[in-house]
Amino acid sequence: MAPQAEQPVFIETIKNKQPKKYGKTITKDKVEIWWSNAILFISYHIIAAIGMYYYWTNDWRVLTLFFLNWQIGMLGITLGYHRFWSHKSYDATLPLRIVLAIMGTCGFQGSIKWWVLRHRLHHRYTDTDSDPYSSKRGLFYSHVGWIFVKSHYPKMKLIDQSDLNDDPVVRFQHKYFIPLALSIVLVVQPLLGYLWFGDATAGLIWGGFIARIAIWHCTFFINSLAHYLGDQDYSFEVTARGNLILAMLTNGEGWHNYHHSFPFDYRNGVKLTDWDPTKWIIYALHTFTNLVPTVRRIPAQDIEKARKRIEAQRSGKPLMEDTIALPEMTLDQVKEKYHNTKCVIIENYVVDVEKFGDEHPGGEQVFKAYYGGKDCTAAYIKLNRHSEYARSLVERLRVAKISQ
Ligand SMILES: [Zn+2]
Ligand SMILES: [Zn+2]
Repeated sequence: MAPQAEQPVFIETIKNKQPKKYGKTITKDKVEIWWSNAILFISYHIIAAIGMYYYWTNDWRVLTLFFLNWQIGMLGITLGYHRFWSHKSYDATLPLRIVLAIMGTCGFQGSIKWWVLRHRLHHRYTDTDSDPYSSKRGLFYSHVGWIFVKSHYPKMKLIDQSDLNDDPVVRFQHKYFIPLALSIVLVVQPLLGYLWFGDATAGLIWGGFIARIAIWHCTFFINSLAHYLGDQDYSFEVTARGNLILAMLTNGEGWHNYHHSFPFDYRNGVKLTDWDPTKWIIYALHTFTNLVPTVRRIPAQDIEKARKRIEAQRSGKPLMEDTIALPEMTLDQVKEKYHNTKCVIIENYVVDVEKFGDEHPGGEQVFKAYYGGKDCTAAYIKLNRHSEYARSLVERLRVAKISQ
């Protein structure tokens, strides 16, 4: 069964929120040191460094325990926290969600709910003050500096968390995250070390602490280096870049420019040959099992359009837009013809938003005030950062052009 190219849903606007309120109630984000996080993070590094010095080994069993921990934790983050819970780029059945939650807990990066909400904030407000790992605050801050800061994000209330609250796996993991995560490091690893190679301490050091450091920094490279180094093939709008080395360190997450352009695609490395084990696993689960009933892919023409737009910007040549013959009409004609319809005006085009159906996460009320051919360009441009995919979709829903 081949993956179905489903229309990705949007999470960039929030259900039950009126866009008109955006921007009016925002106060400056407060910052204070997050001592418990800082102490835990630093002490893990110190223990890992001392442990590595005293327990340096070439025993393949110890190194395999380290490698498995590293990879299981990474996949828990990439397959579970990121591509499933953050972006819903595929559907996962309950057994798979339970496995992903256990693997993600091995990643030791906070609960699913905690991680996903910050990640959604990162996508929605990339490179701004409300981006938890904003690259504009420097490489160190975007890599690990944010961990030491207890930030209060006023815009977090605009981030949808209803799907997370509805998921019993997420609720359970959130409630018991600290004992679960600590047990995986402090109990499971020494036990495995003792049972496998008769050395509980080596198991704790390599399978517990050093593996956690590897998982952390590989994940954090995506917040830091993937916004500094690499190619921008699909969008110049944000600092995200595509980088093969980072993709190899993170099971495919390094193709970050594509991901920021089309976050709902289960692929981060969209080309067939792009190194992206996470997408291969999702594809295999979808094709050979019932665990992944649906995967979401961006239509090829939208990806191609984004790529051509970037090429045109690079070369300075104007992009030859698709020449779909649309009727031209004046504003008065639009009002007369569309006054009773669910059409709005966006950037001088009449757009039939009824075809959106329930896809827009802001719900119908986002458009309602503009039905009947009213202009919502200002809201469309200023109030939300729409992805490349969103823009392509709006272009496809155009039904008429406003004559100047
Ligand atoms: Zn990013
Ligand atoms: Zn993402």
